Amino acid sequence: MFLRSEWSGLIPSEVLEKFYRNIFSLAQLFRIIDPNTFSHREFGFLLIRDNKEIFTRNKSFDVPEHLLQYVRAEIPQGIMIGGIYDPPPRGKSITQLKWLGHELIFDLDLTDYDDIRTCGKGKEHVCPKCWPLVRDAAIFIDETLREDFGFQKITWVFSGRRGLHAWITDPEVMALSEDARDAVVEWISPQGEKLLRPFYWQERALRIFGGIESLDRINITNIIAKKKIAEIWENVRKKLPRIDRQVTIDINRLLRMPGSIHPATGRLVTIIKDLQTFYVDEVPTIYELVS
Ligand SMILES: [Zn+2]
Repeated sequence: MFLRSEWSGLIPSEVLEKFYRNIFSLAQLFRIIDPNTFSHREFGFLLIRDNKEIFTRNKSFDVPEHLLQYVRAEIPQGIMIGGIYDPPPRGKSITQLKWLGHELIFDLDLTDYDDIRTCGKGKEHVCPKCWPLVRDAAIFIDETLREDFGFQKITWVFSGRRGLHAWITDPEVMALSEDARDAVVEWISPQGEKLLRPFYWQERALRIFGGIESLDRINITNIIAKKKIAEIWENVRKKLPRIDRQVTIDINRLLRMPGSIHPATGRLVTIIKDLQTFYVDEVPTIYELVS
């Protein structure tokens, strides 16, 4: 049994050593990314050297075994994965390489919903009362991507702390430009006051965020019903996905690697089986995993 280190919130190296030796695996990663892209991927690592945090990127590995050897030797606090480059980075800055592609990513974080959290527990927490804000945003994004864009390969990953990452891996998304990615965000999560979206889009939002199954049953010519709908819609608007735009449009972005550990919480960054029922507590911490 290990106790979490008090001094920095980071994970004791003996715990990480045990994790990388006995438990760490690339199985989750390979359920998401195309294994053929592995050797051309950029990786980044959070390391502790002389009691200081160092972040190193532009790394790549010819075969998965080399990555396993690296983490067992260097004991990183965090592992990040990025895009595909040619030639592989091998320590050279990715800015000097040809960019070949990156999955389409959406990042949701409970912190972005602070103004509508009602549990009164402050910013740095997750609780069952406020988690549905992120959950419903994810459900809305998932449905919109499938129905409006026709994407099929969507994997939701718990980011290890207070949020979710969606990895869209349909082949046609890999080479999308920053502008194209921005347009997808804009469709899902409109900025500004004007909200001009087709009826089906608004119905989807009312259903997921407002619990209204069908507008057909409501006589919208009735003035009271109209007022009611307007009220509900105001509420729904506040719950529309608050996507971290920068994460989606940055085609060189590094993300926490599925199967790795979040250094601040010790929780596994892990693929979610069922968005509807998922809650943070079901994800094991490194301390539970190694004990
Ligand atoms: Zn809460």
